[in-house]
Amino acid sequence: MRSTVTGGAGFLGSHLVELLLDAGDEVVVLDDESTGRPDNLRDVIDDPRLEYRVGSILDPDAVRAAVRGSDRVFHLAAAVGVRRIVEHPLEGLRVNVHGTENVLDACVAHDARLLLVSTSEIYGKNTADALSETADRILGSPLVARWTYAAAKGLDESFAHAYMQEYGLEVAIARPFNTVGPRQTGRYGMVVPNLVGQALREEPLTVFGDGQQSRCFSSVYDVVPAFVRLIEEPHALGQAVNLGGGTEISILELAERILSITGSRSRIRLVPYEEAYGDGFEDMRRRVPDNSLAHELIGFVPRTGVDEIVWSVASTLEDPGVARSAEWGAFRAYARARRTHIPAISTSR
Ligand code: UDP
Repeated sequence: MRSTVTGGAGFLGSHLVELLLDAGDEVVVLDDESTGRPDNLRDVIDDPRLEYRVGSILDPDAVRAAVRGSDRVFHLAAAVGVRRIVEHPLEGLRVNVHGTENVLDACVAHDARLLLVSTSEIYGKNTADALSETADRILGSPLVARWTYAAAKGLDESFAHAYMQEYGLEVAIARPFNTVGPRQTGRYGMVVPNLVGQALREEPLTVFGDGQQSRCFSSVYDVVPAFVRLIEEPHALGQAVNLGGGTEISILELAERILSITGSRSRIRLVPYEEAYGDGFEDMRRRVPDNSLAHELIGFVPRTGVDEIVWSVASTLEDPGVARSAEWGAFRAYARARRTHIPAISTSR
């Protein structure tokens, strides 16, 4: 089996590449190294079954060359992160729309099955108790930069669906919810690595707004294996499938857990949204997944709790001079053991 992973040097992509190599695949990575880093692949970069290509999904020739000869494509390359989207909306729109179109074209041209990695952001401000895949999307004005990400990713899903209908493309769509784990950087806005880094450096933890907004954080160790199962599950083709965490937590509670786990003496600082992201920024108060379709299709159950997610991030950002809580030693050992645990995946189609 030969797989192409766009964005394979990124946070999710690098974990996926490791998993696929571990399962016996040959893997081609296409990454423009905008937010991805080759260092994320340092453990596997010398593997002869890995072909690493630096290139943009905006370059149709580069995409076709990376897809040629592959049985399946995992499309993870995207402009991501609320901070990055707010600061560079044009890049987000171009990469996330035109780049995806190039990937769809290449999959049709080379008869490859596709997993399109979309996002829970597409649900926007819908605060339902549990968002099912058919839930309405409630987006703010297209002139508010944050919503351009949801708009672009929503369009990607529509494109994928239309390619399936009109060209017979085999495609499944994943909608991960706030996926977190080692190698994710806080630089583009993601809250867990950002707050954990602040805690370990003994800086104030920046909680935006009143901190009562909530999320259901999912672990890379639950979500990435589910990408493989989804592309292999014939009943997932043509569907969009949520992959979320099992516990809702407010950002203020999250910050408190991070302080307790790392033993940091940092304090929590509430930062108005305008200060964090400029005037007119909009956030969603809550985002809760209904994972029942993923459970039905591939037996998906989010097994990793919030504490373990925090440990998995902290243990890779660890500064031994800082982390000193009683919980820390045990958590670090646990997180290390967990990092090497990769669920068995069949890669047969
Ligand atoms: N957030 C925060 N402090 C930070 C970064 C983010 O309080 O340093 C908040 C952010 O406003 C949002 C939540 O944490 O309410 C999750 O943010 P993230 O950007 O990680 O994901 P998303 O907003 O896409 O769910």
